[in-house]
Amino acid sequence: MEPSDEEAESALDRMIDGYKDTQFVAVAARLGIADLLGDGPLTSDELADATGSDPDALYRVLRVLAVRGIFAELPERRFAITPISDRLRTQHPASQREIAVFDAGPWYRAYGALAHTVATGENAFRHVHGMSLFEYLADHPDEARMFDRRMTSFSTAEIPQIVEAYDFSGVRTVVDVGGGEGRLMSAILRAHPALRGVIFDQPHVVGGAGNTLRQDGVADRCTTVGGDFFEGVPEGADLYLLKWIIHDWEDEDAVKILSHCARAMNPEGRVVLAEVVIGAPNSGDDGPLLDVHMMVLPGGRERTEAEFAELFAAAGLRLTRAIVTPGIMCLLEAKPAPAQ
Ligand code: SAH
Repeated sequence: MEPSDEEAESALDRMIDGYKDTQFVAVAARLGIADLLGDGPLTSDELADATGSDPDALYRVLRVLAVRGIFAELPERRFAITPISDRLRTQHPASQREIAVFDAGPWYRAYGALAHTVATGENAFRHVHGMSLFEYLADHPDEARMFDRRMTSFSTAEIPQIVEAYDFSGVRTVVDVGGGEGRLMSAILRAHPALRGVIFDQPHVVGGAGNTLRQDGVADRCTTVGGDFFEGVPEGADLYLLKWIIHDWEDEDAVKILSHCARAMNPEGRVVLAEVVIGAPNSGDDGPLLDVHMMVLPGGRERTEAEFAELFAAAGLRLTRAIVTPGIMCLLEAKPAPAQ
């Protein structure tokens, strides 16, 4: 059905206004307002005092957050937590506090240059920050740790589905290339007690993976290796897993990474990518949104199945299977292409 005039106007208004909400929520998250309200309502002056904020400015922002249902405003400028802001508490099991802070920082600023990217094709993040996303993270350890946790938070729902969807029989050794905090590897090793693993990522990232492995009791079957996948990847494994790696890069770099995997693996080995695959136009999936996210941040792209098949072919591999998981991820398996 066609939207009415008013519906069309308010649909556009919601999108035009989005930039404000990101910052409203980020201010509350950064200051830890939900944590402070955990034991009961406080006045905005008490909150300003506890957070070292300007009392007038903080009150005015809190009043907006109350309009949005993030907090509830009570008489005499007192504020209370609501079910929505409960999720901004640091200790909430599914806390979104850090996500709210992180997204409103370097990523938000990069999105401010989207028009530049559309005009020139140049990466927005580099245009704004003067370096690539991964160079920036290597330079900003606190934000890098937030990024690693942010990636893990994206994966919480996807990991069990990936582990369930792929048949690991015949696989003895797995390398998780760009394995980040190690959650995926740890879940695979727990599900398959005979498997051994290697988590490969940049030196400043793999350090964090050791904790995950120890906590999950699989550290004895997994090593961590720091390095650069443009130089090479650990050799001799049966399976090279790359979850949300190839979408960070344009084709030329993507082919380099895949070629290193193809060269490093056992003759019977395989590469498995966990990626979102772009579907048919207007299908309402997350692909197009993530695709622009990749264009703005690392300077990569999401791809169709046919585009993945081309990348594999350019790296001496052939797409053997595309396995759809119940979530948003697809597993794209490739094996060495037969010699010509
Ligand atoms: N596989 C994880 C992390 C994906 S984010 C997940 O799905 O959650 C991309 C990862 O690639 C980051 O952990 C980043 O540190 C790693 N990475 C980026 N450039 C790299 C390089 N040149 N060599 C090795 N790893 C790299």
